[in-house]
Amino acid sequence: MGMKAIQLISHGAPGQLRLGDVPDPVAADGEVVVRVRACGLNRLDLWMEEGKLPVPISLPRIPGGEISGEVLQVGTGVTGWKQGDAVAVQSNLFCGECEFCARGEESICLKGKLLGMDRDGGFAERVAVPASALVRLPSDVDFVTSASLTLAGSTAMHMLTQRAPVRQGDWVLVIGGASGVGSAAIQIARQLGAYVISSGSSEAKRQFALDRGAHHVVDSSADDWPAEVRKITGKRGVDLVVEHVGGDTLARCFTCLARGGTIVTCGATAGREVSLSLWPLFVKEHKLVGSYGRNRKDIAATLEWVAAGKLKPAVHQVYPLAQTRAAYDALRSRSVVGKVVITP
Ligand SMILES: [Zn+2]
Repeated sequence: MGMKAIQLISHGAPGQLRLGDVPDPVAADGEVVVRVRACGLNRLDLWMEEGKLPVPISLPRIPGGEISGEVLQVGTGVTGWKQGDAVAVQSNLFCGECEFCARGEESICLKGKLLGMDRDGGFAERVAVPASALVRLPSDVDFVTSASLTLAGSTAMHMLTQRAPVRQGDWVLVIGGASGVGSAAIQIARQLGAYVISSGSSEAKRQFALDRGAHHVVDSSADDWPAEVRKITGKRGVDLVVEHVGGDTLARCFTCLARGGTIVTCGATAGREVSLSLWPLFVKEHKLVGSYGRNRKDIAATLEWVAAGKLKPAVHQVYPLAQTRAAYDALRSRSVVGKVVITP
């Protein structure tokens, strides 16, 4: 037996992706094999394709970390799961034994690994994963919806409910509201009672943010966008910035903050080195908070919110496995507004 899968053969922009037959995955002790029904494509997958991650990746590798599907085979020592169970998969794999796992903080596990990078992921018909990474899919959430929100949606959930909890009445600035993290953050902040401002570099992206529930939008391609944010808040500034871009954008977010305000950040596509002015940081009691991935409880919360209609996916396009190359190209073109999902 074998299965169809996409393998990254060599790095580049574009890199070499090969569709072919590979051996069937086998469930080791404590693992299950999942029949992949849908797998979201993320910017993380592009970074891996380009070889730009600050961690070594051994090739060939089957990418794809945002998996939903059905349990197909249960390995020895696995309890609580059976064939046919509908699941989403936590892509931050964790050891379950270190001091951070012991207190439920799987995302900062000392032995953390990423599904689809450190081991084969979901751009394949089947994938073996640790049973500890499974989250039950609510019966009224379909596979494509799950695969379009599990990663970015739960990243935003982790940021806005765990790392920098939103309070009723807060002003929240969401950078890049048309992105996966951004569009989920707008909806989550709104549900938590915040006034939401979002940024976008095009009319289409700003309209998308407004459609997700942003009260105001600013043009991030304009030089003076932080001044626009201050103007909208009556010069006060915002209580929280949800940031995932880094570089100069992160540095400028400090000028958007009210006294006591927080920037929570989960990405650095625009640059990993940022200069920081310490005087306003301590005088205004600002906080800069890092956020990495998610815990299973964040995925469970995200899927509960989806089931309750509080969080809606925005799927740009669904591609079959054979068109994974086209899906990568579409995401790289930056013309995509909404989620790109592969259905093996
Ligand atoms: Zn651990």
